[in-house]
Amino acid sequence: MRIEDTIKIAKRAVLEYKLCDSCLGRLFGMLGYNLSNAERGWTLKALLLMEAYNNLRVETDTIMLTALAASGFKPAEAALKKLGVAKTEEASCYLCEGLVSRLNELSMMCVKAGEEYEYETFQVGCNIPKSLLEREEKLWLNLGLTSSESIKSEITREIGKRIEGLAGKKYSLKDPDIILLVDVEKWRVTVIPRPVYIYGRYRKLVRGLPQSPWLYQPDSRVLYPTSIEELITKPLVRIADAKEAKLHAAGREDLDVRTLGSGRPFVVEIRNPKIRRINLEEVRRVVNEEAKGLVEIEDLKYVDRRVVPKLKAYAEIARKTYVARVKLGREVSENDLRGLEKAFRGAIIQQRTPSRVLGRRIDKVRRKVVHEVKVKALEPRLLELEITCQGGLYVKEFIHGDNGRTRPSVAEILDTSVEVESLDVVWIEEPAIVRSFIR
Ligand SMILES: [Zn+2]
Repeated sequence: MRIEDTIKIAKRAVLEYKLCDSCLGRLFGMLGYNLSNAERGWTLKALLLMEAYNNLRVETDTIMLTALAASGFKPAEAALKKLGVAKTEEASCYLCEGLVSRLNELSMMCVKAGEEYEYETFQVGCNIPKSLLEREEKLWLNLGLTSSESIKSEITREIGKRIEGLAGKKYSLKDPDIILLVDVEKWRVTVIPRPVYIYGRYRKLVRGLPQSPWLYQPDSRVLYPTSIEELITKPLVRIADAKEAKLHAAGREDLDVRTLGSGRPFVVEIRNPKIRRINLEEVRRVVNEEAKGLVEIEDLKYVDRRVVPKLKAYAEIARKTYVARVKLGREVSENDLRGLEKAFRGAIIQQRTPSRVLGRRIDKVRRKVVHEVKVKALEPRLLELEITCQGGLYVKEFIHGDNGRTRPSVAEILDTSVEVESLDVVWIEEPAIVRSFIR
């Protein structure tokens, strides 16, 4: 926009609307480097004053001077006084109605509201009354402006700058610790702390402990009135002074299956934490102490929230190793056992949804890889199987065959009934992706 056009529009803006310096300057936000909107607005008003109150002109433009004075421009007020013209009452700004002059107050409210939270970075959000946004829209339309900065953007930016100065925190659009939500209409600030994410691995040391709180009917297989989620999250909620926490695990084991070895990867999402920098070694110690041998966690680290969806997708493909104790319907020979190992070296298993979960999951066929089965005979009809397979394989069904719904199965190859006496997960491949999301 040429400067002549800018002045022409500024002139109309001052005559038709009483605008404070900031609101006038904001209309021309694309002009001038390193000027605040208030400085830009003041400069435009000064130019209009020079044009209106010019000793070389025959007539002084008192209408413009009056409009400038009404918009709070002090030099115009002085000029009118000198000319002996009574000035009209100073009106509050047509657009912001004085809001822009109260940004210090709002910034202080933000700092105060944030005081009970631990944070380094923040973002400012702003609820602006609808009527104000409508006035802004109308103003742009009437003056034919298409690329002005919005008042919302100025308010959040200016409050952000002030908080940085007042509290020594850093404004961050990307992944801030907290969001300070300023409600201009209710004149109130709400703090929204962003969740903290902690990665780790858990071992489930007993059978009969559910992963998440048990919501089904009373079940005789549930042996403990708690859950892995509760045992891990409860101490964390307390330590972080948070509202709640959620466990996201890379898959889940059946109720009667233990997870041993290096454990199962998980991420805990701590919601509304007041404390963000937790001593993870202390967390590990406290969780393990309070879980009293039911669960153990280790290898805790802060991660990015983007790990959560990756972790879930990952559970479907990650390699796992299980150890199963199985009882056979007949005695088998050494030959049978070697045949079993051979049959499942890199085998593709076709698995229809197990009959035991059919009510809850849709019936479909999955193809999963069994990488290896190692067999040890404990007694003539009692075997220990070490099964390494792709994530998502229903291992019990792979063993007993689920009436032919899983093929081939251990039962099919041995040509006898096979009963699973106990099952443990002993190894879960660690997702490499976690490393790139460590904070
Ligand atoms: Zn204003």
